[in-house]
Amino acid sequence: MPDELYRMSAVDIARNIRNGKLQLRETVEYFLNRIRTYNEKFGVFISLVESINTRENAPFPVPYALKDNILALGTRTTCGSRILENYHSPYDATVTMRLKEAGAVLLGKTNMDEFAMGSTTEFSAFFVTRNPWNIEKVPGGSSGGSAVAVATGMVPFALGSDTGGSIRLPASFCGVVGFKPTYGLVSRYGLVAFGSSLDQIGPIAKTVEDCAFVTSIIAGYDPKDSTTSKKRVDFLNGLNDNIRGVRVAYPRNLLEYEALDADVRDAFFESLKMLEKAGCEVKPVEMPLLEKSVAVYYIIAPGEASSNLARYDGMRYGLRVQEEGLDATYHGTREIGFGEEVKRRILMGTFTLSATYYEAYYDKALKVRRLIANELNNVLSENDLIMLPTSPVKPHNIGEVQSPLTYYLMDIYTIPANLAGLPAVSVPVCLSDGLPVGVQFMGKRYSDPLVLRVAHNFEKMRGEFPLPKI
Ligand code: GLN
Repeated sequence: MPDELYRMSAVDIARNIRNGKLQLRETVEYFLNRIRTYNEKFGVFISLVESINTRENAPFPVPYALKDNILALGTRTTCGSRILENYHSPYDATVTMRLKEAGAVLLGKTNMDEFAMGSTTEFSAFFVTRNPWNIEKVPGGSSGGSAVAVATGMVPFALGSDTGGSIRLPASFCGVVGFKPTYGLVSRYGLVAFGSSLDQIGPIAKTVEDCAFVTSIIAGYDPKDSTTSKKRVDFLNGLNDNIRGVRVAYPRNLLEYEALDADVRDAFFESLKMLEKAGCEVKPVEMPLLEKSVAVYYIIAPGEASSNLARYDGMRYGLRVQEEGLDATYHGTREIGFGEEVKRRILMGTFTLSATYYEAYYDKALKVRRLIANELNNVLSENDLIMLPTSPVKPHNIGEVQSPLTYYLMDIYTIPANLAGLPAVSVPVCLSDGLPVGVQFMGKRYSDPLVLRVAHNFEKMRGEFPLPKI
């Protein structure tokens, strides 16, 4: 067993297992060992899977991890919340089922901000996850556990969920690749709902090719999720083709955002130059409405969340704090079961959806969401891609950011893709003060293969990205 197996991509591991150069059982044992060694230090797994089935001759026999809001029969699915602390998955999510059929081996469920609300993984009810590049820093979120599992080589790939950036942001903070596919290409059946019109499952891995390959397994129409598309997309199509002539736009006004870190800005413009060298046509555009994305998202996402989370009432799921009478039981259960950030979202959502304020807030946010989508689609009708930084800032210290508004604003570059249902990928560019910086490529709906192709070419020009010394 090579000592450095954790450096290998998921696609290479699968190839080596299929042609007999690696044994699946030993490979699984190797990654379990790494989990045993490093899990406590970084706070990654909420639970590990006990009985592991292995099939060597399957198409994709690779160990992996799931964010703990994705169901896998026989595992607990806590969503990082007390209210679901003892909730056992009654069935497999469609993505879990498809990976199982392909032979992938689930090793465990990863830590996350409670109900995927957050950008740092500090809001798990259980423990914080730490950035492997500097354990004082946040790993990004809300899929921080999945990103750290990959960056520390505990698994070759993991799945996360992305409602406003939760795959791409932690991928960027941890120096790995995170991909949010076009809304509707990957089934949400078995993903615990947060903001249903925004939520999307996707992969986190060390390479773009791994992300493309994993997506090709989990994607596809699913009769159990009526928002899935019947369109067939070949995520690996043209991955290795060159990118000469690809038209890349970047929103000039958003790069003047005052909270944008100077190093992140430099890394972004260096990346643009690399694309120009590869023959892309790069040009600045003005996208004034994109600046409203955060405001719109923080009305729509809490609105949907307040409705989705109404089901946790102590009657049907998880925790019940039995009190005298129904109302008191609801109250007691939700008081103890939900953390501060989740309560804040439920309050905001209930407020904006209430009869008195609906038209002033929620209805207006829906209209602006449409305008933002139009602005994106207009730019994408004359260009193939939009390029953005992934996060305006580098990872900060755990506990440092206290104001909700400050971390809501960290999502400024990732939210637009969710509002318009577009595919977007975050790829690491460089290290700055020893911390990774990522850049993001976003495309038209269903242009996932082009987005991945540009990201893959970018990765080749950049050269191998280091893994953290842990
Ligand atoms: N940070 C955003 C939020 O807190 C996005 C979370 C996500 O994508 N799940 O809502």
